[in-house]
Amino acid sequence: MGVVTARGKEAKEAMKKKKQNIDFKKVFVRLKDGDSVRVRILSAYDYVRYMSHGSYVHGIWTQPCLKPAGKNCAICEANDAKVEEFDGLYAKERYLFAFADIDEGMIRVFDATKGQAEQLVDTIEQYAEDLQDVAFTFKRTGNKTDTTYTLNPILRLKADDKEKFEKFNEEVVEDEFFETVLQPRTYEQQIEELKKAGFPVEEYFDVQVSDDSEDNSDDVEPISEEENPDKVF
Ligand SMILES: [Zn+2]
Repeated sequence: MGVVTARGKEAKEAMKKKKQNIDFKKVFVRLKDGDSVRVRILSAYDYVRYMSHGSYVHGIWTQPCLKPAGKNCAICEANDAKVEEFDGLYAKERYLFAFADIDEGMIRVFDATKGQAEQLVDTIEQYAEDLQDVAFTFKRTGNKTDTTYTLNPILRLKADDKEKFEKFNEEVVEDEFFETVLQPRTYEQQIEELKKAGFPVEEYFDVQVSDDSEDNSDDVEPISEEENPDKVF
């Protein structure tokens, strides 16, 4: 027997299984003012950029734009339709960071605006040489447009905390992990969400959306904090 444990179809099944193991109830770091979590940054490059749609006022949660995947994106189309009161649906740049939550013992993600991401990347790069040894306190301060997120190095870990930290020595964040936690909707699901938000889908989409369509919203976990950003762009 060699070192390969699965090939082809079997390997693909194993990957799928891994995906299903993500605990969507816990994977997203959502903090209130003053809250913090202790994290280990696994590498200096564990973040991705994606284009995001989301509109708090319409109840459309942050979700990835489908265009970069080479697909039609119903929310882009809805935005292009320039319907009154639906002017905030355009795709915005967002960043998803992955790190190990040493107290939860799992890889978690944080969804950041571009501005927040720049600050976090600054800190990560500053400590790039020390990521194997240094844990951080990831903390939220402030509310709404004054919200900032900081990573502060923890100078010394207690022995049992050090153990929690070292549990992640071999851990790597795969591209697929980001793809999965972003929970891309299908085109049809997007149209359903638009309909729920009050968008006149019948006028703009050539798709039949039944009124009693199954409510899938329970299957989706919000990526970000989904609080009213007070419309600042
Ligand atoms: Zn889009």
